[in-house]
Amino acid sequence: MKYISTRSPIAPVSSMQAIIAGIAPDGGLYLPETQPAFSLDQITALTDLSYPQRALRILQPFLPDYTPADLTTAVLATYSGGRFDHPSVAPLRRLDPDTYILELWHGPTSAFKDMALQILPHLLVSALRGQGEEKEVVILVATSGDTGKAALEGFRDVPSTRVIVFFPEQGVSQVQKLQMLTQAGGNLHVVAVSDANFDDAQNGVKAIFANRELIVSADKRGFRFTSANSINWGRLVPQIAYYFSAYADLLQSGAVSPGAPVNIAVPTGNFGNILAAWYAREMGLPVKTLICASNENRILTDFIRTGVYDTRRAFIKTSSPSMDILISSNLERLLYHLSGQDPALVNRWMAELKSAGAYRIPGEPLTALQAIFWADFCSEGETRQTIRQTWQDHAYLVDTHTAVALNVLSKYRRQTGDSSPTILASTASPFKFNQTVAEAVFGQEAVAGQDEFTLLNRLSQTTGWPIPENLRDLQHKPVRHQTVCHPAEMQAEVSRILGGIA
Ligand SMILES: *Cc1c(COP(=O)(O)O)cnc(C)c1O
Repeated sequence: MKYISTRSPIAPVSSMQAIIAGIAPDGGLYLPETQPAFSLDQITALTDLSYPQRALRILQPFLPDYTPADLTTAVLATYSGGRFDHPSVAPLRRLDPDTYILELWHGPTSAFKDMALQILPHLLVSALRGQGEEKEVVILVATSGDTGKAALEGFRDVPSTRVIVFFPEQGVSQVQKLQMLTQAGGNLHVVAVSDANFDDAQNGVKAIFANRELIVSADKRGFRFTSANSINWGRLVPQIAYYFSAYADLLQSGAVSPGAPVNIAVPTGNFGNILAAWYAREMGLPVKTLICASNENRILTDFIRTGVYDTRRAFIKTSSPSMDILISSNLERLLYHLSGQDPALVNRWMAELKSAGAYRIPGEPLTALQAIFWADFCSEGETRQTIRQTWQDHAYLVDTHTAVALNVLSKYRRQTGDSSPTILASTASPFKFNQTVAEAVFGQEAVAGQDEFTLLNRLSQTTGWPIPENLRDLQHKPVRHQTVCHPAEMQAEVSRILGGIA
């Protein structure tokens, strides 16, 4: 299987080349020429397998140029041996007879990004070896909080790699910020971007990928840039696996019979996680509707309802910061499919987005989009209310992002009457966004003036759930990264870190 670009008919590349490059030379995103198909028998056969074995079945057809031995080593090193603090890796928990929470946050940084960023270094290192690449790979990351920490943890001290993370200084939670600033590792750099939001940081990184001069100069010094954001295909493909795994768990428990359709609800920001669910559906997983949940940055809700993607609106800072995004990069891959696989059309929409800040897709692709996707958003008040209600009704604690999806799922059910069993992607541990979670559970007055670390302990005592390893004692760890820059200085910062290139 080869990989092509969303934006122009470039010569197809291998999966290793796509993963090393991160982004296509025309600025587009790589995607597979075709999707492998899974029969119902193949899906049913997953029930008897462990998580690493299931992941291997999904990864193999997408990554045919990797040796089976390399892929096996990668899935075992990632998903077994205790890097995830749950034996099932991504357990499915029944909230009520129709709602199944897919807990994706049992990895070392307590957010779902670990599911892909723990395996990506293995895939990248094998690809570098397979391609005879001798340069040091510099992984540039823009983060709204969770990707940065997960990339740092995944690539820590991985030979031949170096990571530079940019995060909006005011745009992440206290816990997220400390997680990154206290990160140890000899090949890691963390830069706070001041007076910026996530889109500014992401645009800054994209500008570096588009800067020929800088790339050539880095190349001469033995460096090669790549991305660990979900624009990298190596991030997307491991995420497809957990949707198959969740369905296999439903089969195993008898909650659904083979072939019975389910819905999937996903709290969405950059559109990577829900796009993985879309790929799973294309490959034959019995999925009816994909429910796209947004916070008050409701740009995807508007797009899915009207076909107009319009960034000319205020950026709102919410309690679910990992979804505070106005440019959802991965939507471009879906647009390619909706366009009838017409890169010229995608290129035009992306050019309009860049020049005018908006584009509109016509009736036919819009109808195709709405046949699969349903979208709504959740206000800040509703987020807190959902956390409180879920705790009261089910003694189950959800984080702010998961709450957004639960709220939108309830709206979907009310408006459509569809009560099909639903897999809901839970994307972070509630302890990671504990300020809002604690306010919701204990009441605003009861937590006033208490810092996030006191609240962490209170939440743990109340629920009886242990604080995840990586969040314990965070406030006592030494701060190792101090660099701050403006968005306009990001390229200069990269040059400085790499020893004065360009
Ligand atoms: C990244 C993230 C999201 C959004 O996922 P996308 O793939 O960017 O849509 C949602 N919740 C949490 C906790 C995240 O870290």
